[in-house]
Amino acid sequence: KHRIERIASSIRVIPNFPKPGIMFQDITTLLLDPNAFGDTVELFVERYRDQRISVVAGVEARGFIFGPPIALAIGAKFVPLRKPKKLPGEVISEEYSLEYGTDKIEMHVGAVQPNDRAIVIDDLIATGGTLCAAVKLLERVGAVVVECACVIELPELNGREKLGGIPLFVLINRA
Ligand code: IMP
Repeated sequence: KHRIERIASSIRVIPNFPKPGIMFQDITTLLLDPNAFGDTVELFVERYRDQRISVVAGVEARGFIFGPPIALAIGAKFVPLRKPKKLPGEVISEEYSLEYGTDKIEMHVGAVQPNDRAIVIDDLIATGGTLCAAVKLLERVGAVVVECACVIELPELNGREKLGGIPLFVLINRA
């Protein structure tokens, strides 16, 4: 329990970023504390090490920070899910809606196979739109998405419900 408290207190909250009214959860201060960063990775590793996970899919950009150390520790592939036009190979893409307009994430064809068991990781779930698109990408290539994992959940936005049947594991709730 004190691991969670240390992680929670290491995350800085910046009001009115990137626009007025938003309380931005800034995980860069968590990364400055090796104990808190180590505990974060360790809590996910403890949860997933015995679940025969073969893919850790990380959502750009902050899923690229937490995903790789978890993937290495549990002996899984790390697969980056990127913003459009970043991946050089053949991709599949999934569009999702934002407050204004739409966005897209992409995955390399061939990175994930139909027999893969995946988790999807990001720093934070708000509306759930991003993780939902990530889950769809993995399911389109036939993988089983075992769970989505985030450091922080903003529960008021009900992102958890958008994930349908896929479980969500989070370390910290910021109401
Ligand atoms: P969602 O798609 O509405 O769930 O938004 C989640 C995405 O937005 C994630 O990729 C987050 O990194 C990013 N995001 C939204 N709010 C915050 C925040 O307060 N701190 C850090 N990232 C955020």
